[in-house]
Amino acid sequence: MRSKVNQNINLQEYKGVWIIGEQRDSQIEPVTLELLGEGRKLATKINEELTLIICGEKLESEIEKLLDYPINNIIYLNNEQLKNYQTDSYVNLISKIIMKDKPNIVLIGATTIGRDLAPRLAGRVGTGLTADCTALEIDEVDKKLLQTRPAFGGNLMATIICPKNRPQMSTVRPGVMKKIEKENDFETKIIEPYLEEKLLFSRVQNAEIKLRNSSKIDLSQADVIVSGGRGIKGQIGVQLLQNLAECLGGTVGGSRAAVDSGWFEHERQIGQTGNTVRPKVYIACGISGAIQHVSGMGESDYIIAINKDEKAPIFSICDYGIVGDLFEVVPEMIKSFNNKR
Ligand code: FAD
Repeated sequence: MRSKVNQNINLQEYKGVWIIGEQRDSQIEPVTLELLGEGRKLATKINEELTLIICGEKLESEIEKLLDYPINNIIYLNNEQLKNYQTDSYVNLISKIIMKDKPNIVLIGATTIGRDLAPRLAGRVGTGLTADCTALEIDEVDKKLLQTRPAFGGNLMATIICPKNRPQMSTVRPGVMKKIEKENDFETKIIEPYLEEKLLFSRVQNAEIKLRNSSKIDLSQADVIVSGGRGIKGQIGVQLLQNLAECLGGTVGGSRAAVDSGWFEHERQIGQTGNTVRPKVYIACGISGAIQHVSGMGESDYIIAINKDEKAPIFSICDYGIVGDLFEVVPEMIKSFNNKR
């Protein structure tokens, strides 16, 4: 179906902040709670309702858990054909409800699924989309959504508005926003709409779905990340970082230089073109601190940097800096953490 641009629409008709939730294997993904956290903040600012819309099957117990949170409505598109993500049916169903209910703001995770779904939805409902936002705010004067994202290779931050069309749609990377907090005595309405058979149709049928090895820690959810850059020099450095991560109950990540050198899988890259992370502790080893790296880890609670160059930019954004050779410093850290256990 071709997209169309809405002209002369009545912006006042569009109300509410909607989150398009994500589930895999009938488990709600953490990014959904992060989007709900941001959505709650925005909805309160514009005094509108917060709605979660989610497709799947057997989500009842997951939805039950969401009743502890300040969400006004949950629209549950419940059908066995929606168990796994399908472009056609998800776009057909969600766009139809958006066009009927007219939300003001729609937020989607910048995940593999969200990156496929969001632009198609925006095209179908005839609005714009700002991808990979790192900050969302409400304009004090006209209440429009201010959507901020890195531009020009991360060298500047652009704030984008959607002045003439609705809904205002953004994708947000996992790990960027804070999860929604529980709130007592909040009444949530659960809506299970009737789903037209023709909208469930999908041109692609999944033959088999293999979920990724779940024993791997999801970087966006890790409390401790030990991250390596070009300064770790190779596999010996990787092993050293893994040992440190292990004794802290964390996981390892890397800069693009380290990933490009083949020392880490791409899924462990941190930064503008990798993961955005917000761990309690981020230990940057042999990483210079380029802006494209910092845009993916700068929101960590505590940043510890180890670098032999005292002028490395990473020292200007870290909480604790150690000027030294990581091959000397990291083994000392491992020794001292092990002695304390
Ligand atoms: P370097 O900049 O080479 O730094 C290595 C550091 O190691 C140096 O500071 C050095 O002093 C230190 N060192 C060397 N030996 C030791 C030692 N023995 N002990 C202690 N310290 C030592 N980068 C990312 O990381 N993630 C991204 O997502 C990303 N996306 C990008 C997107 C675009 C569009 C562009 C243009 C670039 C992107 N980059 C990204 C690349 C980024 O600009 C930097 O080139 C990259 O982050 C540098 O990686 P590094 O810090 O590991 O390497």
